Formats: sequence, C-alpha cells, structure tokens
Amino acid sequence: ARRLAVQAWTGPGRTHDGVAVELLANVQDGAGARTAAGFPAQGVGLFRTELCFLSAQTEPSVDEQAAIYGEVLAAFPGQKVVFRTLDAGSDKPVPFVLHPDEENPALGVRGIRLGQGDPGLLERQLDAIALAAEQQGVRNAKVMAPMVATIDEARDFAAACRARALSPGIMVEVPSVALLAEAFLAEVDFMSIGTNDLTQYAMAADRMAPSLAALTDPWQPAVLHLIRSAASAGVSSQKPVGVCGEAAADPFLACVLIGLGLTSLSMAPNALAAVGLQLGSVSLEQCQHAAAAVLRCTTAREARSTAHELLS
Ligand code: PEP
Ligand code: MG
Repeated sequence: ARRLAVQAWTGPGRTHDGVAVELLANVQDGAGARTAAGFPAQGVGLFRTELCFLSAQTEPSVDEQAAIYGEVLAAFPGQKVVFRTLDAGSDKPVPFVLHPDEENPALGVRGIRLGQGDPGLLERQLDAIALAAEQQGVRNAKVMAPMVATIDEARDFAAACRARALSPGIMVEVPSVALLAEAFLAEVDFMSIGTNDLTQYAMAADRMAPSLAALTDPWQPAVLHLIRSAASAGVSSQKPVGVCGEAAADPFLACVLIGLGLTSLSMAPNALAAVGLQLGSVSLEQCQHAAAAVLRCTTAREARSTAHELLS
C-alpha cells in the first residue's frame, strides 16, 4: 500500500495543514533536470555543475558552459534553479582544475578555495551562468558557492555575482558558517545547508568511509544544533535557508528540518515522493514539536527514535 501511495504523490510540497514547502531536486546536467521535472520537482535546489566536467581535460569555453547550464534552466521554465559553482577537489576531481598534492584533500583546496590559485575560473563560470540566464530569459539567476568558511569569501563571491545581476548564496558546509550564520546571511540572498559535508566536518569523519557511518549521520545531535543555528538565522533575517544534503531525503528528518524553520528541501528526485507524502501527513506544529524534542536528545539513536515516535 505504501508503494502505491508513494507513486501517487504528485506535489507540490505542503504539510497536512497546507503550509507550503519547496521540494526541489539535486541534478547534474540537462538530462537529469528533465527527468527530475517529471517526478515532479518544483525546481532545482542544487545543480552540481562540477559533475558536468568530470571527464573534461580542458576547461569548456564560456559558450560551451552556457549551453549546458541553459539546458537545466530550460527544464524548469519559470521555476527555481540554484547553480552551485565548481566544487572541484576532494571527492570530485575535475581534470582541468589543477590540484596540488595534498595530504588531506577534504581539508584542502576545494570549492571556493580554488579561487586562490585561479580567480578566472570562477569569473568565467559566472559569465557562463549569466549568459545562459540571459539566453533563457531568467532574471537574477541563483548561484551559490560551495565550501565557504569565512565572511570575506562570502562577501567577495556576492560581489562577483551581483556584478553580473546574479543572486548570490552560499552553502553551509563548514561549521564556521553555521555558527555565524546571521553574519553570513547579511552578505548573501540565501543559504543552502549541505548536510553531507557539514556532518563530515562537524564530526571529523570522512563521508567516503563506510566504517564511519555511525559518525557521518545527520541525526547526530551536534549536527542538528548546527542546522538549527543556520535555520534560526534564516527566520530572523527573513531570507530563505534550505537543505540540499542527503538529510533532506530522509522523510522524518525532512519534517524536523521544516520544524526548524527551513524553507526548502532539495534531494535526489527519486526521494521526492516519500518525503512529500510524509510531510503531507503531519502539521507544521507537529514538525516544530518534533524539532524541539529532537534538539533535547543527546545521541543520534535517541534523536531518530524520538522523531519517528512524534511524526508517525
Ligand atoms: C553536501 O555536502 O551536503 C552537498 C549537498 O554537496 P555535495 O554532496 O555535492 O558535496
Ligand atoms: Mg558538499
């Protein structure tokens, strides 16, 4: 019966009492975006642009990049599409991006930090996104930077976006950003929490190591408190803060995230139906109650079982 019900979900996202929740897709290219539109996603919350270039030996030109980006915009006309600038490095090697030999690539030059060695890389990508947006008739296209850790990085990124009429955002993946979320949010238009990396860095546990799965668990109370910090900043600043990590695809955790005040959830398209269905079965007040209860838990196990109890 559950399988049938999941297939029957047709969106849009809302709680049982009718509070709208944006349910978005994580995509990596035009074909993925067209598939996601059928699920149906209400837009793209995370376009992982680096995944378009995992086999590119040389940097695609601005026009070539714009053609790829335009395909994703075209799959969601009039809907939200959030570009993430190249998150090359660590677990996502992009051949044309030169990486120094690093002892600890996850803690090394990756994401926004690539600008240290080659500022032109980001400039050209932003030019390509602006060109694609212009060609598709999209105003103020949304662009966010991965692996931001300092206010200066956020400020410089925002200036580069605004110079091209792009709307700047940042990902919350480094605990420093979650802790000072209000100050970061003052610099940009929106934030999106990448729970995969945020968990990795909060728990000092490699997300690629299966033996550490108990640590790389977004139900870990310390991770939930970091998420709460970012969510509260969004509420007080009245700016959108969403989640685009795997945590958003867990139906019970999704309810907790909405209870914390987050405004959108972006996930692998095949997770949308289960999340949409679970959200539709609970009220916002139930989500808020569950969120408050979960924040009082001191182990991941307790947090998970508390949420299941209060939300089933
Ligand atoms: C994340 O870190 O949670 C995220 C969404 O980005 P990625 O998984 O691509 O690192
Ligand atoms: Mg990440």
